[in-house]
Amino acid sequence: MRRTLIAGNWKMNTDHATAVALAEGVAKGAGDVENADLLVCPPFIYLESVNKALANSPVALGAQNMYAQPNGAFTGEVSASMLTDVGAEYVILGHSERRNILGETDAVVNEKTIAALEAGLVPIVCVGELLEQREAGKTAEVIEEQFKGSLAGLSAEQVAKLVIAYEPVWAIGTGKVATPEQAEEVHAGLRKLLADSYNGEIADTVRILYGGSVKPSNAAELMGQPNVDGALVGGASLKAEDFLGIALAL
Ligand code: 13P
Repeated sequence: MRRTLIAGNWKMNTDHATAVALAEGVAKGAGDVENADLLVCPPFIYLESVNKALANSPVALGAQNMYAQPNGAFTGEVSASMLTDVGAEYVILGHSERRNILGETDAVVNEKTIAALEAGLVPIVCVGELLEQREAGKTAEVIEEQFKGSLAGLSAEQVAKLVIAYEPVWAIGTGKVATPEQAEEVHAGLRKLLADSYNGEIADTVRILYGGSVKPSNAAELMGQPNVDGALVGGASLKAEDFLGIALAL
């Protein structure tokens, strides 16, 4: 049975004081959440302080990105071992904002995924189509290409450890949530890709999150779909009440 994961992607938001306050708010309410694991992913610079604020709570810590090399002359980059060093257990990789604004390719996401797994981090590998791709009927094709490219060369044991997030780009930050049927169709397709590329046991185990305008009022219906195992939440993760409200709605 896959346990629901509700992950907050804070993106480039908060300052030190608001990051700590938000983490404290989530930690405080987390005890009331029975049906889901909780994860928050603050900006790099606040990871350590947020980790302290989450101490003695069940809320896990993650980062939003990393570099694939372990160390060296890579100015401005942060490695997987630096993330584990400050308490991160998860890392979001290949978010559409990194793919579309920062130019990350499937090959880059693939290198990062391998490095994250080697360092003991749980990668949350993101895939998702643009509006024009959906309108051109290319959603399944785009998702399959990103899935295969991002996970190339991984063993079944490695794939069993990761989380996949489906985030249709047209639903991110737009208030335009995918319908439960639209999400389920892609999630079921991803589950079939897992079964066909690896095996049935892995397909049954790997959690597939939905992301894109998730809020307390639409969470239950989305996560009621058989193949939707949680959410990657942007805007609504910036208020403890809304973030917890998503988990409490299940
Ligand atoms: P919103 O929840 O703000 O639409 O963002 C989704 C997202 O990109 C999470 O990674």
